[in-house]
Amino acid sequence: MSNQNPVFIPGPTNIPDRLRAAMQVQTQDHRAPDFVETFAPVLEDTKSVFGTQQGQVITFPSSGTGGWEAAITNTLSPGDKVLVARYGVFSHRWIDLCARHGLDVQVIECAWGDGAPAATFQSILADDVGREIRAVLVTHNETATGVYSDIAAVRQAIDAAGHPAMLFVDCVSSLASMPFEFDNWGVDVAVSGSQKGFMLAAGMAILCVSPKALAAMDAATLPRTYFDLADMMAANASGGFPYTPPLQLIYGMRESLRMLFEEGLDNVYARHFRLAEGVRRAVDAWGLKLVATSPKLYSDTVSAIYVPDGFDSNALTDHAFNTYGVSFGIGLGQLNGKAFRIGHLGSLTDVMVLSGLATIEMAMADLNYPIELGSGVAAAQDYFRSGSQGRAQAAA
Ligand SMILES: *Cc1c(COP(=O)(O)O)cnc(C)c1O
Repeated sequence: MSNQNPVFIPGPTNIPDRLRAAMQVQTQDHRAPDFVETFAPVLEDTKSVFGTQQGQVITFPSSGTGGWEAAITNTLSPGDKVLVARYGVFSHRWIDLCARHGLDVQVIECAWGDGAPAATFQSILADDVGREIRAVLVTHNETATGVYSDIAAVRQAIDAAGHPAMLFVDCVSSLASMPFEFDNWGVDVAVSGSQKGFMLAAGMAILCVSPKALAAMDAATLPRTYFDLADMMAANASGGFPYTPPLQLIYGMRESLRMLFEEGLDNVYARHFRLAEGVRRAVDAWGLKLVATSPKLYSDTVSAIYVPDGFDSNALTDHAFNTYGVSFGIGLGQLNGKAFRIGHLGSLTDVMVLSGLATIEMAMADLNYPIELGSGVAAAQDYFRSGSQGRAQAAA
């Protein structure tokens, strides 16, 4: 079976040839004097993707989950109270990680399809007269449901309550695909990874940490060794790494940043909106429904789509893979069997997205879904033809 077909899972994403080539490098000594010339600009340039001047970018060799662990263990102590909303598998997994680290986790249960409940955060924070809540944790883009949350609104809620809690944001499936404003939103720790918007292999957790979060390190007593920010920053300051760095990924990251800056971050965001909107027009033409409950919650990196009653979304994604050699995201958690996901982030063009829509349409038609073959593709084609921004060369 051809492995030329793009994947339509919301990470890991398609790796452009240019980045695969950039990662093809021979071993180099990371203690040699020239390592710093490769590594230091990567940290510096990543700041503009986070939208920060005052934040510090730090990376660990791990998947994104390790970034969550670093965020928690460096800033908090056992028994510390954190406030989190659960609205999908990823927000759930972050909650689970906090609980297993012995934090006192106050969970707000939300419907899957909703986003971070800023107003509820505000009233809980206002009622916390003892100021015991140390951090509010938000998943910017809930990859399981295709829901985008408004981080500026969460910041406003914290400020309106006059509460000193830190703001931690998981932006693994949004960074480098949708706008992120670390400084303007007053984020204290943002957590991302190499295998989604940066279009690389998995293996780098990429964090941005505010001065306020760094100041919380001394008092934080959760155990940490591998993920110790202080060790990493001390080594980074002299251009090094406290252990063996993922050199090939760092080379890939350098090239990824070049690609993003060549396209222009605003164009990258416009392209993601455009691809997402094409998918949404197709979903509408099929007569299917998104899991996300309102347009302001629509994610530009992944769409979770309910299958009609009586159909099994796992049978659909299996069929698309087995028959046409294309991967789509399965429904996760309580959406398993009920929804499938189309990932539309990273290295993708209009044409690639049309191929994904055409494929899932064939799979639905094969399985007797009540859709009209070609209707979704046509709706996306109409939209892509009429649009202007972010076209063709975008993900070359
Ligand atoms: C992919 C993802 C993660 C991290 O997962 P890893 O597999 O550990 O890289 C975390 N949060 C969200 C929202 C994600 O989409």
